[in-house]
Amino acid sequence: MNPLLTDSVRPDFDAIVITDFEPAMEQVLKDNRHLVSELIAKGLDSWDELAFPLEAADDHLNKVWAVISHYNSVLNSDELREIYKRIIALLTDYNTEMGQNFELYQAYQRLADRDDFSSLSQAQQQSIKHILRGFKLSGVALPDSAKEQYSELKKKLSSLSNVFSENVLDATQAWTHHIESKDLLPGLPESALQLLESLAKEHGHESGYLLTLDVPCYLPVMTYCEDASIREKIYQAFMTRASDQGPHAGKWDNSETIQEILVARQAVAKLLSFDNYAQQSLATKMADSVDEVVEFLELLADKGSAFAKQELEDLKAFAKEESGSDEFNIWDSAFYSEKLKHKRFDISQEVLRPYFPVPIVLNGLFEIVKRLFSIEVLAKPEVSSFHPDACYYSISSNGEEIAGFYLDLYARKNKRGGAWMADCSSRRRLEDGSIQMPVAFLVCNFTPPVDGKPSLLTHNEVTTLFHEFGHGLHHMLTTVDVAGVSGISGVPWDVVELPSQFLENWCWQEESLAMMSQHYETGESLPKEMLDKMLEAKHFQSGMMMMRQIEFSLFDFLLHRDFSETENNDVLALMDYVRNKVSVIKPPEYTRFSHSFSHIFSGGYAAGYYSYKWAEVLAADAFSRFEEEGIFNTQTGLDYKEQILQKGGSLEAMDMFVNFRGRKPSVDPLLKQAGMKI
Ligand code: ZN
Repeated sequence: MNPLLTDSVRPDFDAIVITDFEPAMEQVLKDNRHLVSELIAKGLDSWDELAFPLEAADDHLNKVWAVISHYNSVLNSDELREIYKRIIALLTDYNTEMGQNFELYQAYQRLADRDDFSSLSQAQQQSIKHILRGFKLSGVALPDSAKEQYSELKKKLSSLSNVFSENVLDATQAWTHHIESKDLLPGLPESALQLLESLAKEHGHESGYLLTLDVPCYLPVMTYCEDASIREKIYQAFMTRASDQGPHAGKWDNSETIQEILVARQAVAKLLSFDNYAQQSLATKMADSVDEVVEFLELLADKGSAFAKQELEDLKAFAKEESGSDEFNIWDSAFYSEKLKHKRFDISQEVLRPYFPVPIVLNGLFEIVKRLFSIEVLAKPEVSSFHPDACYYSISSNGEEIAGFYLDLYARKNKRGGAWMADCSSRRRLEDGSIQMPVAFLVCNFTPPVDGKPSLLTHNEVTTLFHEFGHGLHHMLTTVDVAGVSGISGVPWDVVELPSQFLENWCWQEESLAMMSQHYETGESLPKEMLDKMLEAKHFQSGMMMMRQIEFSLFDFLLHRDFSETENNDVLALMDYVRNKVSVIKPPEYTRFSHSFSHIFSGGYAAGYYSYKWAEVLAADAFSRFEEEGIFNTQTGLDYKEQILQKGGSLEAMDMFVNFRGRKPSVDPLLKQAGMKI
């Protein structure tokens, strides 16, 4: 039998080979298609006869997919890349077909209309509501004439978003600036110079250094280059990419693309009976109304603005001291900020590394979650894994194993960069009444141990580990029995980062740091003075940073609320309006930030950029209860586990939050944690 089809929560990694992937996927899609038509033909519409078997089918598919996408991320190869492409195509077809299956939609609708619907559990009802919402948002509920229009618009939008990102990419790659000698690039650190030197060679220059607009080049130049005219030059090119301005004015210009995207989005929203695209975006989020989001952003802006202004004044005063001139331009901001930061808090991540050997950090992390949530984490090296570096751990509560995860910490060849949590299997109740255990993949890219010495982490990396573990706990500690809303499934986008950011807080507390830090040579835990410095550095310019995020969020949200083909269609005027309202530092007229704002024009963040801040507020406010009651208060920990972690997507997020906090979220704890005393 194909080892991917065993339906076990822990894949049989010893038996799996990548040539199993495609046949497994073909088989499960075939089985699922067959099941769907059978259920529809029989006219079934109860939970047990319709929703439950389909949940099982979905779950089967998810498990197969989990392994394939995991291998693609952490054990990639040319061969797998080809297989993966073909599987993606199979899966896309299947998903489109299911999303557009009108009879399936009707069957679920009949289920929701049944008299006994209200006798289903909260989780069952919620999962059906989500499924119906998904169908409605995919246009399947529309009358035939509108359906066609809808699918035309969707096609158009997908090609427009491609055009948008290609323009950004082409414009980014088109600009380079060659500099013959490194004497003309004073201030750049050696690592950046090396990068620029290799870029020059790559682009066919025999010698010298090449500036490009890719972020790994742009950032160090803006941050370290002493020559203001070079910073200005690269800033200008960067901020006018894909627009009617700058060195490639009019070429790869996204002005028209932006208009067309907004017109089409507005049309889709109208077809689906929303007032505007912002409202459509909120249909799947925690925020209730368009007004609520705007008020939220304006409130944050109100409270943060004075801090940001003060920070800018400090920065300007410092710049004047350094340069002896009153002139301060926007391309000076990152440069003097770095100098000021260095002067005030001379602490580098490298200095912190010796305090955070991986085994100590892991022990500390497991001890912390044990004290908070009464769970036991135990390594199980005997369980087979997908790579020798990755180890399986079990989580138990009251002596019973309730979840597990594979921890894959180190960077290696053929492994995608970054850190993430992905599900391997989800919690759900099976037909025989038993529970399927949730299992997660936790992946990081830390420096591997060498010569028998433990891997040493920077504090940033420790925070990353806690962040991903927070996601993991959300997935693993759930007690919901319906897969569609258990763990992180069905959790709104503006809430999903709550548990992850929440857990990061324990990386900034003296008491918990003592549990997870120990100098690998002296055995000393992280000194208090270092933590204090780290906190100061963390708070550095947090007001300015916040105002920048609010600027992007407000622009994105108002744009998708107010835009119409004939009115309010001046995107640049809106950007200006937002900047006048919230920016402390105004960029020059020629900048065209919107033209490369890929998050909202070619990513999934349209009318959703605010989610970053929204989730931060929730996380900070949830943590503030621990600050009030003790960061290791057992009762508070258990409450958090019960009200937030266990509930998954089974409850409305606001209800869940209020149940834990006793009131609606407040922005004040976030400001306080960012060092803004209010
Ligand atoms: Zn995250």
